[in-house]
Amino acid sequence: MSLASKYSHAAVWSLLPGYIRPDGTQAYPLTAMVANLAKTTPDRPALMRHDDVVTFFHEMGHVFHGLLSRTQFSRFYGTQVARDFVEAPSQMLENWCAHRICILGRVLIPT
Ligand SMILES: [Zn+2]
Repeated sequence: MSLASKYSHAAVWSLLPGYIRPDGTQAYPLTAMVANLAKTTPDRPALMRHDDVVTFFHEMGHVFHGLLSRTQFSRFYGTQVARDFVEAPSQMLENWCAHRICILGRVLIPT
């Protein structure tokens, strides 16, 4: 992929929908996140800025929305919900970034 066409922001794609098959078994979803995050260098570890953490948590909300959906029909899987609920899981995860200590037990220092 050339740099000119390189994706410049984080995004999530649903690759396979999850749903309950007619025999009652679960068809498991597949979701992918793509993001440009800091890379490690020989003299610096790969540290994320606070806004990168917020972006990462936001996109993880979409990932969890896709991976944890439990629907009978793939049509209603993941973010295929009422438009004003699409961002709800992401906003809940973003909210954790506003607390000095998030559920991961790490101290977040706002920029
Ligand atoms: Zn979003």
